[in-house]
Amino acid sequence: MDTTEDLPKSQMVALIRQRGIRDALVLNAMQQVPRHRFVPEELRWEAYGDYPLPIGHGQTISQPYIVALMTEALTLQPGDKVLELGTGSGYQTAILAEMGMEVYTIEIVPALHETARALLAELGYARAHCRLGDGNAGWQEYAPYAGIIATAAPATIPAACTEQLAEGGRLVIPVGPRGGYQTLWRITRRGKTLQREDLGGVAFVPLV
Ligand code: SAH
Repeated sequence: MDTTEDLPKSQMVALIRQRGIRDALVLNAMQQVPRHRFVPEELRWEAYGDYPLPIGHGQTISQPYIVALMTEALTLQPGDKVLELGTGSGYQTAILAEMGMEVYTIEIVPALHETARALLAELGYARAHCRLGDGNAGWQEYAPYAGIIATAAPATIPAACTEQLAEGGRLVIPVGPRGGYQTLWRITRRGKTLQREDLGGVAFVPLV
């Protein structure tokens, strides 16, 4: 166990709790997952700060608070199937796998996909299933999902996201223009209707 990382990690979790995250499963996962392994080596010293960091290829690892907020909004139970669009570093994937979810994650940049897949395997996250491809089509093979999370923002919600959502399932997705701010939505499937809740303003990289 890398004890030198325990203090900054505990401070990160304390801050997230202070900002209003209450889900014990989420807070525990954030205490367990070694975030410093998911950032470039030269940025490891600031891995536990509450801000996003660059991970190469013009992409970023999301801010810890936003990861916690989106994960809590999914309201999952261990064993649930979750689809993630935008694997990136694999940190969000690791949080979900650590919580006991069966995670299906898609990344479009080959180098990021490979690095994340290798790291998740090295850390023993057997519940993380990584695929290289375009997340806009979802991952039909394992649908329907109790939760779908997009960590890159489309201009409009891809049809696959709502189609592959289970009855009562939640989709958490930033939607809005490229390069600007987006609105984070939680969409819940209730039969044929989709119930929408505005979770606030966010800034994500675009879903291409
Ligand atoms: N969850 C990630 C955040 C990564 S940023 C983390 O914790 O690190 C968003 C990611 O979405 C980037 O890696 C980007 O390459 C990817 N992405 C963008 N458009 C995509 C698409 N159409 N399909 C799949 N991944 C996409």
